[in-house]
Amino acid sequence: MIRLEQIHKTYHNGSPLHVLKGVDLEIGKGELVSIMGASGSGKSTLLNILGILDDYDSGNYYLNDVLIKNLSETKAAEYRNRMIGFVFQSFNLISFKNAMENVALPLYYQNVSRKKRNMQAMEYLEKMGLKEHALHLPSELSGGQKQRIAIARALIARPQIILADEPTGALDSKTSQEVMDLLKEVNREGMTLVVVTHERDIATQTNKIVHIKDGIIGSVEILR
Ligand code: ADP
Ligand code: MG
Repeated sequence: MIRLEQIHKTYHNGSPLHVLKGVDLEIGKGELVSIMGASGSGKSTLLNILGILDDYDSGNYYLNDVLIKNLSETKAAEYRNRMIGFVFQSFNLISFKNAMENVALPLYYQNVSRKKRNMQAMEYLEKMGLKEHALHLPSELSGGQKQRIAIARALIARPQIILADEPTGALDSKTSQEVMDLLKEVNREGMTLVVVTHERDIATQTNKIVHIKDGIIGSVEILR
């Protein structure tokens, strides 16, 4: 599903910072993969490239055999909306929209009618055990509930892959495990998932751990 060949990325604001120095990586459909590495090693940079949120400088990125390179902003947004769901450490929910509206948001960009959007959002909220919180604002919810809403929002557009950047980073260990259980469940239903984490206990629950070091994939641990 995903193939990276010799991906390089340098940031140029300030003195040039060569973050990715030839990353090779393959991720198959239905896999649950974790990415580990020291702070500043380029995990988020790599995830943002995978999510077509950011460009790379050289190499090739194939997503379902489509070369993701030099895309126009419109084309990039189209692929992103159709193929990819995102989950972030800080949840990135819209503070003035309630849980249902937050979950429904991706469908708004697909021009689905409000009634249909809200109906589908309610289905996903129910799946996440959050139906009774549909009308609550993010500020009225716990961290674990917010992350479950973010996961529902990532799922609602039926993407092919979910990219999660430190999804448990802001949660206590019990809530982290609940969120991880939910992500594993989503993976069991067939979704491909890439989870960035610096917690070994989280990473060991995935199929394989990809270690980033010094700008390249230092090693890959196959776990199951
Ligand atoms: P990680 O997620 O592994 O902590 P990042 O991918 O966020 O690492 O960052 C890798 C390096 O690139 C860090 O040194 C960071 O400061 C730098 N960096 C990240 N994003 C930018 C940016 N937009 N502009 C300049 N430097 C950046
Ligand atoms: Mg990061």
